[in-house]
Formats: sequence, C-alpha cells, structure tokens
Amino acid sequence: MNMEAFYFDGRSSKRHTVRLEATAGRLCLHDTPEGERHFDDTEVKISEPQGRAPRVLSFPDGACCEVAQGAELDALLNTLGYRESFVMRLQGNWPVSLFALVCVILMMAAAYQWGLPWGAEIAAPHIPIKPMQQLSDTVLRKMDGEVLHPSKLPLARQEKLRSGFNRLVALDAELAVYAPNPRLIFRSAPDVGPNAFAMPGGQIVLFDELAEELSDDEALAVLSHELGHLNRRHSVRQLIQSSVSSAVLAAYFGDVSAAAAYLATLALDMSYSREMELEADAYGAAALRRQNKSPMLLASALEKLERSTRHVNNEDEDDEENEDEDEDEGTDEDSNEEEDGASLGWLSSHPDTRERIRRLKEL
Ligand SMILES: [Zn+2]
Repeated sequence: MNMEAFYFDGRSSKRHTVRLEATAGRLCLHDTPEGERHFDDTEVKISEPQGRAPRVLSFPDGACCEVAQGAELDALLNTLGYRESFVMRLQGNWPVSLFALVCVILMMAAAYQWGLPWGAEIAAPHIPIKPMQQLSDTVLRKMDGEVLHPSKLPLARQEKLRSGFNRLVALDAELAVYAPNPRLIFRSAPDVGPNAFAMPGGQIVLFDELAEELSDDEALAVLSHELGHLNRRHSVRQLIQSSVSSAVLAAYFGDVSAAAAYLATLALDMSYSREMELEADAYGAAALRRQNKSPMLLASALEKLERSTRHVNNEDEDDEENEDEDEDEGTDEDSNEEEDGASLGWLSSHPDTRERIRRLKEL
C-alpha cells in the first residue's frame, strides 16, 4: 500500500514530494532528500483529524509528512496497523458527538437545578450570622436611598405589630440559634406596592402598603411566614446559590463586575422556590397556632393581597385591554389571572397563591 505525501526534514521549510509505503508495522518513505527512510509504527505519531486539513505524521528526528485525508490514508494506516483512539473515533461520529453534547448540557442543568440547591442547603447552617447581618444592612442602606422611604404607619400600630412580632419570635427557640435578634423594620415603598421580605441577616422589612391592606392579625400572619423563611435559612440558601452561579458566570465570561451587578439585583429581588414558600407557609401556620391563632389568617391575607393587586393592575391595564384581546385568544384564563396577580409586590415574589391558599385551608 503506498501513496504520495509532502515531506519536511524538520530543519528547513522546504517541501519534498515523497511516496509512503506501508507494510504491517512498518512505514517506508521513498524519495526523501536523505534517501529511503524506515520507521516502526510505534515511532510514527499521527495528528488528530481537523476537518479536511491534511494529517501530519511526525517522526522521532523532527521530520514529518503532510498527508491528505481520504480512503488512501485510511488504507495506509490500516496496513500499518494503526487504530484511531476511542475518543477520536467518537469525534468523527456526529450522532455520538451530539449525544455527548446533550448529555453535558443535561448534566450542567441538573447540577444547577438540584446539585446547587442541595449544596446550599447543606452549607447554609454553617454560614455565620454576623457577615449576613452586615451584608443585609448594606443592601438595606442602598435600598433606602432608592426604593424605600420612611414608614408613615401610625406609631401606635407599629408598636402593636412589633409586640406581636416579638411574641412570634419568643415562641421559637430554634430561631434564636440562627438569628438571635430578628428585627422588624417598617418602610414605605409606593412604587413597589404591598410587600414584606426577610433578609439573610434576620431583618424583616414590612411595607406600609402591605400593612394598610391587612388587619393586625393578617399582617402578623405574613410576618410569621417571613420568619419561616428566616428559620429555614431560605435567603441564605438563595444567596449561596446566586453567588455560586454568578461566580461560575464570572469565571466563564471573565467579567467579575457583571457578575457582581447580577448578584446585587438578585439580593433586591429575592424569590424563593415553590417548596420554600410552602415550607414557610407551614412554619407560619404552626407559629400562628402556638399563639392560638388560625392559620387561615395567612390565607385571608393572601386573598386580600391578590384582590388588591389585581385591582391595581386592572386599572393600569384598562387602556391596553382592547389591543391585547387578540393576543390573549387561546391562552387559558387562569394563567392570565396569575400573570395579573404576579406583577406587583409580595405576590410577585410569592407565586402559586391559589395553591398556597388551598393548602392552608387543608392544614
Ligand atoms: Zn415567602
């Protein structure tokens, strides 16, 4: 078996046309400037195939041959007894490569979907509260200069809610282990709407706009739900997850500042998984029971907030309704309602309102 190739002696860039001849385990080069040369198959290194580019056969003294790809080369290598490595054979097989690519993407998605939350859950109890408090205070100060304003809630009502909140905290010994002094913070944010959220450092922020929609007991039911997020360290877990994802993104894109900005956005707009919400609801219901109050207070708070949020949205969207009508055709009505309810305030970071109400009623 023989074929033509270009030969380079490894000392000059001059190219010579030579003839390769293969026998079992041996390669012979005819017509090189050094005359006839022989190599054992073990002395010949063969480059990986790169598209249609010629393959390079390298020899121990630095000389090499460029050989066109094709049936002739395959036959020559076959006679020589050379077998492409397993990985190279896989690379040449596009359905296998595609399958491998899909597997890698699925594995990355699984790591993101399940591995990351699992790791965060394991790590969260070991994160000390002090840096979390400092981080939360920093984020709060930043929000104070932007979306948050001082509360206008009457002091008497603030005191009433605060003493109710302190009673909820005092009844949970487990909470004290993680967050020794959860703080209730009153703020107003007309641009955001009714809202309340727990920060990883134990600060729970209640908006006037939410308190004004609800009775004292209903507002305390929302606070007991937020204490549930704190007790289960949900915000710390979310913070770990988003930090890891942004660190991975930063490593991948090599842009640390973009990743930091992404993290700040997440800290301001923390939303939890469905499981976390249900867990916080169950905690809130148990906390209300410890005070001889009904878990239904949380359900009625949810219903009131949903009604008021939908009312606000409907007013906003009255003008657009006619234009949107055509686009809405064929979508089911339930999902439209969900979207309406999910565009503002506490409910926007708390999806699945109806399911939560149903579950609370079953408790
Ligand atoms: Zn929640």
